[in-house]
Amino acid sequence: MNIVVLVKQVPDTYSERKLRSDGTLDRDATDSVLDEINERAVEAALQLKEAHDGSEVTVLTMGPDRATDAIRKALSMGADKAVHLSDEALAGSCAVQTARALAKAIGTVEGVDLVVAGNEASDGRGGAVPAMVADVLGLPALTHAREITVDGSSITVKRETDDGVTILTAELPAVVSVGEKINEPRYPSFKGIMAAKKKPVATIGLADAGIDASEVGLAAALSTVTSSQPKPPKSAGEKVEDEGDGGSKIAAYLVSQKLI
Ligand SMILES: Cc1cc2nc3c(=O)[nH]c(=O)nc-3n(C[C@H](O)[C@H](O)[C@H](O)COP(=O)(O)OP(=O)(O)OC[C@H]3O[C@@H](n4cnc5c(N)ncnc54)[C@H](O)[C@@H]3O)c2cc1C
Repeated sequence: MNIVVLVKQVPDTYSERKLRSDGTLDRDATDSVLDEINERAVEAALQLKEAHDGSEVTVLTMGPDRATDAIRKALSMGADKAVHLSDEALAGSCAVQTARALAKAIGTVEGVDLVVAGNEASDGRGGAVPAMVADVLGLPALTHAREITVDGSSITVKRETDDGVTILTAELPAVVSVGEKINEPRYPSFKGIMAAKKKPVATIGLADAGIDASEVGLAAALSTVTSSQPKPPKSAGEKVEDEGDGGSKIAAYLVSQKLI
């Protein structure tokens, strides 16, 4: 089975995120990491590889030069090779452009059976790219996977959302997005980290992937961030003095917050 994992380098979760005046994220202002949900997407692909002899895992990212660090992390976990779609013209691309560009880049990998992505990226949090990639490629999309099983050319996913669990089945090739509960990603071993340095990373530009420069980047983005305000700091919360009426005061508070 030929598996491609879409991984994204994102600002470190604990760092303060700043937007530039053009509305794009200032990625130089913070440390960058392999997106945590994408670590689980890599882990899911590696588990499928271990269950299906002869399989190969390719990680694919669209990002600037320094996204190579995120690629090396995924390779040190055990992925076999990588494709890095990197071109300055891609900077500021919106989610739709990103999905179209990723679909083209997936097209440069031969005989793809399964594309595994995260159900969202921890910076843009759109959660739409996997389904859009599936749409552009004309493939089924199985999202929010909690469990993935492949049997021959058929894939079954246990999909978990707040509303409950559903079982989805489709024919390969397909696109799957995983949630954070699907697994615990393995830590790269020292041997894995050393081996990753020698694993092939194909760096491709727009021309290699057949992407038209006029269709990507901030200038052509279908939506742009025009302004943003940081979320107000959480208030301390309300203190209820219980003078025998604590219960009714709490009930009144819950009603006022429309919680009951
Ligand atoms: C604060 C902020 C708000 C934004 N709001 C919007 C918006 O409202 N509309 C819009 O169109 N764009 C928006 N963008 C831009 C958007 O984040 C980028 O285009 C981004 O690359 C794709 O969207 P996402 O992060 O929401 O991805 P999601 O759809 O949340 O990502 C899901 C999965 O897709 C894969 N993936 C996503 N990006 C990449 C990549 N570059 N390389 C490889 N795999 C990838 C990963 O597996 C990821 O887990 C916003 C960006 C920021 C920083």
